[in-house]
Amino acid sequence: KEPTDINVLADEYLRLAYHGLRAKDKSFNATLKTNFDETIGKIEIVPQDIGRVILNLITNAFYAVNEKKLAVDKDLTGLDSYQPTVSVSTKKLNNKVEISVKDNGNGIPQQVLDKIFQPFFTTKPTGQGTGLGLSMSYDIITKAHGGELKVETKEGEGTEFIIRLPIN
Ligand code: ADP
Ligand code: MG
Repeated sequence: KEPTDINVLADEYLRLAYHGLRAKDKSFNATLKTNFDETIGKIEIVPQDIGRVILNLITNAFYAVNEKKLAVDKDLTGLDSYQPTVSVSTKKLNNKVEISVKDNGNGIPQQVLDKIFQPFFTTKPTGQGTGLGLSMSYDIITKAHGGELKVETKEGEGTEFIIRLPIN
């Protein structure tokens, strides 16, 4: 573990993921929102590992908003306008730091939600997902960092993943 500025890490991975997707698909677009708590300072984490977690959550969020955009464009949703949006924020609480990755995609139905942290569980077509992202993320956050990984979702409205990491 090393002292790491979580805001810089999160911002870098957000932009990296976004520009990576746009390089592959010129029509991909999303609004990025950030709200970083500048009082956090550096926290003791394994930066590569927390970076992978954040990148995975962000990649999932972009995938979710893109799916919804495609459905709206095909007129499958009854919505006439939709702006794909991914928000990343950080917040310092008493003895922990929260990192939130939120999207306004389609949300996660209950029968899927029950399985998302299982290794190899994916709803994505072959080649588009390994189903390892969230199970790996869960282990990195809970086992290696003593933190929590929580999800809140509402069908049709979106999903928020919240990482909570203890600080001393
Ligand atoms: P993968 O991305 O390879 O499918 P993950 O472990 O990252 O594997 O995610 C597992 C599944 O959880 C996804 O296939 C998808 O069904 C669901 N999921 C994860 N994040 C989101 C999200 N932000 N919105 C909707 N569904 C999600
Ligand atoms: Mg994933």
